[in-house]
Amino acid sequence: MYNYSEVFTKMENSLMSALKLSKKDFDERYESTKTLKFEAKSDDWYFEELTFIAFYSGFKADTVNKKVGLIKEYFPDYKTVSKFDQNDINKMMADSKMIKHPGKIEGIIKNAKLFPSIISEFGSIHNYLVSLLPDDTDETLKKFYKTVRSKFAYLGDITTYHFMTEIGLNVVKPDRVLIRIFERLGLITHDKQYWELIVHAREFAKATKQKIRYIDMIFVEYGQVKEYGICLEVKPKCDKCELSKTDYCNYKN
Ligand code: SF4
Repeated sequence: MYNYSEVFTKMENSLMSALKLSKKDFDERYESTKTLKFEAKSDDWYFEELTFIAFYSGFKADTVNKKVGLIKEYFPDYKTVSKFDQNDINKMMADSKMIKHPGKIEGIIKNAKLFPSIISEFGSIHNYLVSLLPDDTDETLKKFYKTVRSKFAYLGDITTYHFMTEIGLNVVKPDRVLIRIFERLGLITHDKQYWELIVHAREFAKATKQKIRYIDMIFVEYGQVKEYGICLEVKPKCDKCELSKTDYCNYKN
């Protein structure tokens, strides 16, 4: 049987060494990821999540990070945005500082216009999402994914999981970093096995008794951050990875 706990502990140890942190400091660094759960949030919180997920989708995080203030100015809350028309879109498209992407901008406005009807039927966006989750089974989560993906604009294959991750559900965003490491570990065999990847991530969380957000964060840091990341896309630092001395990794250089 695959030893998820052993694999993850070896990754944590390797990352801890790369960061030159004690166990206590390492735990503190990721403390906030260990408490995230699906709980009531305001309608505007959900609107902002959908807005930024749309902007971050397919763009470098740095590009969007620099525009966060401006994006918030243009999309302050769902009530304001629900009244937007073509003139507002034209204004944004004419702003040299704004990210000019009609698909994203129109999708966000579409979501804002959708919010009032959901809120009037369910009382809040959160209540609506709760109504789609009668239990925590895989089948329910898969159904939730399909419903939410078709309900809101500008949610795609991966961004729908991104939304589910951000709101605190028991999934991860299967982005290219996680896909790469999971492939190297032989847990998936191709880059479209999003659900299979999520099932493995849930097993890591179960075996280590950690929140899935923490598992997600460790994998992302392990494979993405140039300064101290280990399983990097180019020239992974296998000499710094405890998994290199085991049969768990299919890719050793
Ligand atoms: S490729 Fe190298 S760094 Fe990545 S998991 Fe395998 S041994 Fe570790």
